[in-house]
Amino acid sequence: MVNNLWKNILEREFIFEKECYKTCNSFCCRWEHEDFPRFFIPKGGTLFYLPEEYNYIKSNAMLSDGNISQLSINLYDNKKVSIYYTACNDDRNCNIKFTRTLYCRIYPFFPVFNMEGELLDLKYISIYDITSDIIGLKTPCYVKNKKEVYLKLWQKDKELLNILKNPYLLFHFMVADILYNNYCETLKESGLLSYRKEEFWVKWERLYLKKRLINKEKATKDINELYKKFCNKYNDRFSL
Ligand code: SF4
Ligand code: SF4
Repeated sequence: MVNNLWKNILEREFIFEKECYKTCNSFCCRWEHEDFPRFFIPKGGTLFYLPEEYNYIKSNAMLSDGNISQLSINLYDNKKVSIYYTACNDDRNCNIKFTRTLYCRIYPFFPVFNMEGELLDLKYISIYDITSDIIGLKTPCYVKNKKEVYLKLWQKDKELLNILKNPYLLFHFMVADILYNNYCETLKESGLLSYRKEEFWVKWERLYLKKRLINKEKATKDINELYKKFCNKYNDRFSL
């Protein structure tokens, strides 16, 4: 069952714009922009894996050979919600030597679902795109402007929706939405938005590296509430 889900995901694209990287110098795989200062955060793409996805790729496909890091939030029953990540050491044209993850296949958006699996919206998946949008920074990605197009396409595509609203994925997309909203609120409350351009990014990076751009207490509470709802609603169809 789990294997079929990931097989289906890794055999298809969710957002596909042929050779769009040629229009933007692979912006989303480099994160180079004249307004970004010299970040300490390494430039380049990041491969994100959900734990099930990581296990599937490790056994059935080509795992990146980079060191894997993990971000987690503890759940009340001693489980965790986690994401694994590593730097993409590809040539930034997706001429890949390993399997592209779901994150790269749905970039630049993630779907916003309700508990019933109804697709309500698409939101930016990358923290750089979310932040650029909030501060009004233009980026070279034209795909970001096609949100309404993809929202309509996805809402009509029953096969795609059935994959994405699998309870395991649905839960993680709803966690992504909690973190998205938490980040936007925390950024606004941080006072950073009064700074301009380079000064903004220097201060932003400092807070980012100190993990102060997410209100972890609130995120933990909100994610635990969501997890309880999922366990009640989806019962033996859902586990982490
Ligand atoms: S998705 Fe956007 S940023 Fe990424 S390669 Fe395509 S046009 Fe460039
Ligand atoms: S796998 Fe492709 S889309 Fe994903 S970060 Fe690497 S080069 Fe970019």
